[in-house]
Amino acid sequence: MWEIVRAGGPLMWPIIFCSIGAAAIVLERLWTLQDRRVLPPELTQRVWQMVETNQVNEKVISALEQNSPLGKLLAAGLANRHRPREILMERLRAGDAAAGEALVKRYYHPLMLPQGFTQLNLAPHWLRDEQGRTFCDAVCPQGVLCDDGLAPKTITTPEYQALANYAYHLDAGKFAPFLHKHCTEKLGVKYVSADVLSVNQDEQGDITSLTTREAGDIPGDLFVDCTGFSSILLGKALGVPFHDCSDVLFCDTALAVQVPYESDDTPMASHTISTAQKAGWTWDIGLPSRRGIGYVYSSRHSSEEEAQEELARYVGPRIKDLKVRKIPIRGGYRETFWKNNCVAVGLAAGFLEPLESSAIVLVELSAKLISEQMPACREVMDIVAKRFNEVSHYRWGRIIDFLKLHYVLTKRTDTQFWIDNVDPGTIPERLQNLLHLWKYQPPWFFDEFDRLEEVFPAASYQYVLYGMGFRSEIDPADNVGTELLASRYLNENLSVTKKLRAQLPKNRELLRKIHDYGLQAI
Ligand SMILES: Cc1cc2nc3c(=O)[nH]c(=O)nc-3n(C[C@H](O)[C@H](O)[C@H](O)COP(=O)(O)OP(=O)(O)OC[C@H]3O[C@@H](n4cnc5c(N)ncnc54)[C@H](O)[C@@H]3O)c2cc1C
Repeated sequence: MWEIVRAGGPLMWPIIFCSIGAAAIVLERLWTLQDRRVLPPELTQRVWQMVETNQVNEKVISALEQNSPLGKLLAAGLANRHRPREILMERLRAGDAAAGEALVKRYYHPLMLPQGFTQLNLAPHWLRDEQGRTFCDAVCPQGVLCDDGLAPKTITTPEYQALANYAYHLDAGKFAPFLHKHCTEKLGVKYVSADVLSVNQDEQGDITSLTTREAGDIPGDLFVDCTGFSSILLGKALGVPFHDCSDVLFCDTALAVQVPYESDDTPMASHTISTAQKAGWTWDIGLPSRRGIGYVYSSRHSSEEEAQEELARYVGPRIKDLKVRKIPIRGGYRETFWKNNCVAVGLAAGFLEPLESSAIVLVELSAKLISEQMPACREVMDIVAKRFNEVSHYRWGRIIDFLKLHYVLTKRTDTQFWIDNVDPGTIPERLQNLLHLWKYQPPWFFDEFDRLEEVFPAASYQYVLYGMGFRSEIDPADNVGTELLASRYLNENLSVTKKLRAQLPKNRELLRKIHDYGLQAI
C-alpha cells in the first residue's frame, strides 16, 4: 500500500484526504437517513391525535421541528394550519416530497354529490387536469368545510334542511329513549318490554305468537325480528341460515371507548374520522360531551393485546383511566330476510362492519320498505316478501363491494392484514370487474348505481377511488365538447365553497346554539 502512495507522488495526499472525507460523509448519511430517524413510525398518527384533541401549541410545534425531517414538515403544516389550503399545500410541497405524502394521505367521502353530477361526470375532467386539487375539493365543498371544523348549517337554517348535506352523530344511549318517547307519545305505539321465551308457529311455519316471560303470549300477523345478533325469530325459529362474509371483510372485533374532551371548548370535528391501523381501522366520532373512539380489527391478524396497544396509541395515555368495551362482530347476513310472516331488520338481518356506517341506514330503508309495502293480507305477503328479499340482497351486495373497495385500494404492505386484503380470492367478482373497467372509464350511472335509493351511489365510489389514489386512463377525446360545462361546474364549486366557508359556524358553536335556542321548526 505504502509503495503505491510513494509511486503516486505528492498528488496522492489530497486523494487520500478526500477519500477519508467521502467515507465519513457516506457513514454520516447512512446514520442520519435511517428510516426510523427520517420518518419515525406513528409520528403522523400522534400528531393527528394532537390536532383532533386541540393539543397543538407553540411548544408542540417546536418539539416536532427538532424530532425528524418528517416532524419538521408536520411542524410547518401545523404552523400554517389556519392559512388557506392552497398556501398550506404550497408550503408542504416545497418540503420533502415523501414526508409531505405521509401528511396528506387522507381523503374525504363527503355526503354531497359532485357539482352537476346528474348532468355531467366531472371525474374524467378532473383526471385530465387536477390543478393541484384533490377530487373531493375540486367537485364539492365538504372536504374544505370539514378541514375547518365547520357545521353543515347555521342556526337560522330550518330543521332538517342543510347548506351542506349531513348525517347525524347520535348518542345511542339517548337516542333509544327518545325514539321510545316519540313512538309511544306521538305515534300511538303500544310498548311492551318483555323477554321472548319461545316462538310459536303453525304447520306452514308462520309465527302465530311469541311467549314472553313478563307479558305472556303476544299474537300477531306479521313479526319484525329486531333481536340483534341472536335473530331469535328468523334465524332460530324459522331456521334461515347465516351467510358469513368474513372471507371478504376480515374485521370481526371492536374495542370501543368513550373519551372525554379536555375542556367544554375543545373543537369538535364535524365528520367521522376513520384511520387505517395495523389490523383494521379506528373510528373517532365527536359528540358535544365526548368522543366515541373504537378500533375495529381482525382477530385473525391481531391478538386482543396488540389491538389494545394500537387503540391506546390512538387515544393516548388517558386511556388508562377509561373503560374499553370489547364487541364481537359477526360479519354476514341472513340468506333470506323475509320468510313466511317474519321479516328481520337491523342486526337480526345481519351486520358487516361499522365502516361507512351503513347499518342504521339499512334499518331505516327496510322500515320504509315494510311500511310502504305492508301486505294487506297473508295472501299477498309472499309477493311482498320476494320483492323485499330482492331489494335487500341487492343492497347488501353493493355494501359489501363498497366496504371492500376501501381495503383493496390500499398500498400498505406493512402488515399481513393489508396484504391479505388485496388477495384477489377475497374480492367479490363484481367488484373485481368494476375495478378493471374503471381503469379505463370512471364510475357513473351506467355501473348499475341507478336505483332510486342507492345506499352508496357512483359518486361515493368516485370519492373513495380517487381519494385513495386510483387513476382511470382518460382519452382526451372523451372530454371534447363538455369542457365548458365542466369548467363551469368546477368554478361553481369554488364559489360555493368560498361562500359556505364564510357563512358556516364551527360545529361546536352551532350545536351549543341549537341546545340553547333550538332550530327554526318547519
Ligand atoms: C362496533 C359497532 C359499531 C357500529 N357503528 C355503527 C355506526 O357508526 N353507524 C351505524 O349506522 N351503525 C353502527 N353499528 C350498527 C348499529 O349498532 C346497529 O345497526 C344497531 O344497533 C341495530 O340495532 P338492533 O336493534 O338491530 O340490534 P341491537 O341493538 O343488538 O338490539 C337487539 C335487541 O334485542 C333484544 N333481545 C335479544 N334477545 C331478546 C329476547 N329473547 N327477548 C327480548 N328481547 C331480546 C336485546 O336486548 C336488544 O335490546 C355498529 C355496530 C357495532 C357492533
